[in-house]
Amino acid sequence: MSRVVVVGSFNVDHVWNCASLPRRGETLSGHYHTGPGGKGFNQAVASARAGVETGFLCALGDDDGGRQARALAEADGIALRVHESLHPTGTAGIYVDEAGHNTIVIGAGANGDLSASWVSRQAQALAGARVLLSQLESPLDSVLEAMRLARAGGTTTMLNPAPANAQCLRELLAAADVLTPNETEFAALLERHTSHRIDSETIASTADAQLHKLCRTLLPRGTVVITLGAAGAFVSHREDLLRGDDTPFYRVAADKVQPVDTTGAGDAFNGALAAAYAQGQGRAFAEHVRFANRYAGLSTEQVGAAQAMPRLAVAG
Ligand code: ADP
Repeated sequence: MSRVVVVGSFNVDHVWNCASLPRRGETLSGHYHTGPGGKGFNQAVASARAGVETGFLCALGDDDGGRQARALAEADGIALRVHESLHPTGTAGIYVDEAGHNTIVIGAGANGDLSASWVSRQAQALAGARVLLSQLESPLDSVLEAMRLARAGGTTTMLNPAPANAQCLRELLAAADVLTPNETEFAALLERHTSHRIDSETIASTADAQLHKLCRTLLPRGTVVITLGAAGAFVSHREDLLRGDDTPFYRVAADKVQPVDTTGAGDAFNGALAAAYAQGQGRAFAEHVRFANRYAGLSTEQVGAAQAMPRLAVAG
């Protein structure tokens, strides 16, 4: 039985490290490598390597990428449920410049076939799970179906509203117990769903009480965790659910690390947070966030996405 179930994407990442990002009409040469990725898969690997039984629901093609996903999931002990697609397995073309900035093109391929009707038949995979974790790289009606199914079974729903340009429907927000945007995603969600505006660059320096107010407006019924890169994370809880001397909002500092590649840091954070939450019943939420920060920080010290997830078990 999986304690964390992730519903989402698998991509084969094709990465070119170049001196600068290619401009229109330009031909550059760069160092190439390939590896597994996709937000869903990265997060599932993070949860599994945090030592928590993890399931992953995804769509794969009948090709090398699909076979790679199956082999990797098996190696990490992830319980895989695959919707077999007639389309090729998802791919991402990623250019990274010397400053670490990137440009990404995604070919959703099979990921686009993860249908709501298939998800609705996976109730068994969710039975007994503590956390359902999803993102916005899959069809949104399927993500919504997974969240509804999870909630109906008493599973906590966690939504990582990434990437920022995906249409995060109001129904999806309403179905999330925990929402985990990064700064860009938080600014985009506020703009789409509220009358408030914030510049993503100013979020880390915004007063906590003000951020809390914005979080409450965006997700009145759930917890919001905004990831702040090297500054860690900001947490905002629904006040009427707090017990004792719990505080409604606070920051959790990141660890000091020597980052070499921050690709997938958000995925590391999400997978680790889901794992810590699933494992640590009764512990303060801030402790789960502290673990997620430590885990994500370590992931930045390795190159790659899924491959960079550290083996760091959350306390039992
Ligand atoms: P995303 O990868 O989605 O843009 P962030 O940049 O907010 O997300 O990073 C997610 C998490 O990864 C942070 O909350 C933090 O825990 C960790 N992290 C990212 N960059 C660093 C860094 N330079 N130093 C320490 N931790 C980091």
